[in-house]
Amino acid sequence: MKNKNNSVEKLSVIIPFLNEEENLGKLYEELLANLEKLNLEYEIIFVNDGSTDNGSDIVKKFVKTNPSVFLIEHKVKKGKGDALATGLKKASGSLILFMDADLQDDPADIKKFYEKIQSGYDFVNGIRSKREDNLVIKLYSKTFNWFLKKFLRSPFTDINCGFKMFRKEIADSMSFYANNFRFLPLYAYYQGYKTTEVEVSNRPRIYGKSKFGIKKIFIGIIDTLTTYFLYRFSQRPLHFFGVIGGSIFSLGLIILSYLSFERIFLNHLLYRRPLLQFGVLLIVVGVQIIMTGFLGELIVFFNKQKNK
Ligand code: UDP
Ligand code: MG
Repeated sequence: MKNKNNSVEKLSVIIPFLNEEENLGKLYEELLANLEKLNLEYEIIFVNDGSTDNGSDIVKKFVKTNPSVFLIEHKVKKGKGDALATGLKKASGSLILFMDADLQDDPADIKKFYEKIQSGYDFVNGIRSKREDNLVIKLYSKTFNWFLKKFLRSPFTDINCGFKMFRKEIADSMSFYANNFRFLPLYAYYQGYKTTEVEVSNRPRIYGKSKFGIKKIFIGIIDTLTTYFLYRFSQRPLHFFGVIGGSIFSLGLIILSYLSFERIFLNHLLYRRPLLQFGVLLIVVGVQIIMTGFLGELIVFFNKQKNK
């Protein structure tokens, strides 16, 4: 596709890898074969995320023979999100493709992504319809995507699919930190970019080990809550803390009013009444949560003033 200046567009393929030495050779071969077929300029950026195997030497050989291949290295493992962000900094194309290095993503699918871009979409996310993962992860993933659809207006079926193509300007305007790269599709959608999905094949991992496993479920839940909070309440934290703190405080108040009524009008003594401690606890906790909300409001307010 020609861009505004009538020149061929450039695609930057960004591949983070951590101990994937057995996969890199075949991946590179398949990539070249498929990229050559597209009417695109391209570059391939491998990001070594602190591998302790020979992966880096293997990629260095590609770099020597092909000026479109680059290698960037993290000295220690920083995580996939950071590796993607490192790759983005180096990328010079107007289009970006994220893919894994473990051969689970099939380079033959790149064509499908590009066709969607050519038909006018800015962000194309993959859908792994036949996923090669264990049952727990699949179930978790289904619930996760359901939650995002229900509460965050997500239009995506498989947001965690690492295989995606998009216009670089989308990533440029998002600040990446920790694991929030997985919400890039949602960010694009909220910013009004045209988003869509394509089905991709998900091959079983043959060499090397998955780096995530069950642990990613917990991390995923925490990340989702963070995103939910930032999306809904980052500009008005008191709405979040106020409702929670206010409910707890009110419950405490009801309990203590009831006890006071009994004490004053019915002359019931208050010793040996655990309800008393419970009521006091609710009031103290409630007030603290409401105060946290006020602190949040203060932070938002000062930030706004500073950025005026
Ligand atoms: N990866 C990485 N740093 C990490 C974890 C993973 O660069 O800390 C890379 C990994 O080498 C692979 C991709 O991210 O290319 C996806 O990881 P993996 O296949 O282990 O995840 P899964 O497919 O099991 O979710
Ligand atoms: Mg994988």
